Amino acid sequence: MSEHDQPFDLIVIGAGSGGVRLARMSAQRGARVAIVESRYLGGTCVNVGCVPKKLFVYGAHAGEDIEDAAGYGWSVPHDKVSFDWCRLVANKNAEIERLNGIYRRLLENAGVTLIEGSATLRDARTVVVNDRAYRTERVTIATGGWPSVPDIPGKELVLTSNDMFYLPQLPKHAVIWGGGYIAVEFAGILAGLGVETTLIYRGDRFLRGFDDDVRRFVEQEMTKKGVILRFNTNIDAVTATGSHYTVQLNTGETLETGLVMAATGRRPLVDGLGLDTAGVELDESGHIRVNDRFETSVPSITALGDVIGTPQLTPVAIAQAMVLSRQLFGDGKGAMDYRDIPTAVFCQPNIGTVGRTEQEARSEGVDVVIYRTEFRPMKHTLSGRDERCLMKLVVDRASDRVLGAHMVGPEAGEVIQALAVAIKAGATKADFDATVAIHPTSAEEFVTMREPVA
Ligand code: NDP
Repeated sequence: MSEHDQPFDLIVIGAGSGGVRLARMSAQRGARVAIVESRYLGGTCVNVGCVPKKLFVYGAHAGEDIEDAAGYGWSVPHDKVSFDWCRLVANKNAEIERLNGIYRRLLENAGVTLIEGSATLRDARTVVVNDRAYRTERVTIATGGWPSVPDIPGKELVLTSNDMFYLPQLPKHAVIWGGGYIAVEFAGILAGLGVETTLIYRGDRFLRGFDDDVRRFVEQEMTKKGVILRFNTNIDAVTATGSHYTVQLNTGETLETGLVMAATGRRPLVDGLGLDTAGVELDESGHIRVNDRFETSVPSITALGDVIGTPQLTPVAIAQAMVLSRQLFGDGKGAMDYRDIPTAVFCQPNIGTVGRTEQEARSEGVDVVIYRTEFRPMKHTLSGRDERCLMKLVVDRASDRVLGAHMVGPEAGEVIQALAVAIKAGATKADFDATVAIHPTSAEEFVTMREPVA
């Protein structure tokens, strides 16, 4: 084994959203930084997550836009409309390659040394990559997560979101297993692209943890778009004959399909890192245990992002990276604030949400006032599409503070991102009421709801 001559101040393992931000910011603060990556620059978000997913969502939605144009006077003969999956994938791949290049240049321009290969910790201050040892004052583990598939007979036949981005062709029918973010997003993508889609979820209603009104509303809207939702159902086994799959359900029924995709959660990616050797402890769920300064059980080793079990969201990892860089190489101040993290689910229509759900607020003993509206967006008066929009505010009666805002509808993420500032700043319902509406928009409903739900 060879030894790298110059020691680093920081070696970051994993060049995903959090790792790249930490490496760049720390190098810009004058630290000697290296980043190790074994797969692709930009991590899950850029390569097999947020970015390609959103491009696929646009692709799926384009079909509805074409149909909707008819109500606005455009002639769209059905026999002239066609869709080419391979073209969408190729265009998406080109965009991802462009982003990979941008990430590489960002690291180079910041003076970060990129080491390509798999990293193993030899001890608390030595990282080994491709049989070469690198000495460093500090290490940060930012290796993210990986899809986890339940252990059932035929598990090897089940695809994950990683595979879906590179499918050679679309099947006629697909089964999606799970009821979280990825399951509902891919159900929307596939159904929008014309695939008959069945979603299998083990619980009473999918999207556990979201506001109950949101869950009910998404169920209704997805059903209208043709997705078959099977709740209180699970998959026991999968068998294959060529490219044809038989799914054995726990109800005793079987489903015949062309594809089975599991979206049953993600596990922390710590394989081969040598955490045992270095003495880095995991928690009960297999995530790296850290304190509120991101320090693991080994003082020179920190960790951030999906691998530590905080909300698995790119902006959370990026915010953690900025806090950690400041702590390590800045003025040493700053702390991560996990309250009121807004999030969107790009199912169709989208979900946007920030703050407390009605159920969370009630379980905390808050006396809540609820404002809720459901309506048909103006666009669909002429398109004729039977799609509705939901907006909801959860307000604390005692303080009048808006504790939560929830939306299901077009561009819900865009609307809720802006509302999240108000909620983070502690806006009251009176502040919402005093805000003049922008007319005609859907978002104006958030400042014009006056009558609480009985
Ligand atoms: P989630 O944790 O969101 O959902 C996992 C789903 O799988 C749940 O419905 C869960 O059911 C079900 N499940 C788990 N284990 C089993 C099992 N053994 N058998 C049957 N069902 C099971 O994970 P995802 O994979 O959807 O996504 C991972 C994370 O990635 C998300 O939590 C989110 O943080 C992030 N993400 C964010 C996106 C965004 O911001 N738009 C998009 C995609 C992902 P139950 O509810 O009963 O536990």
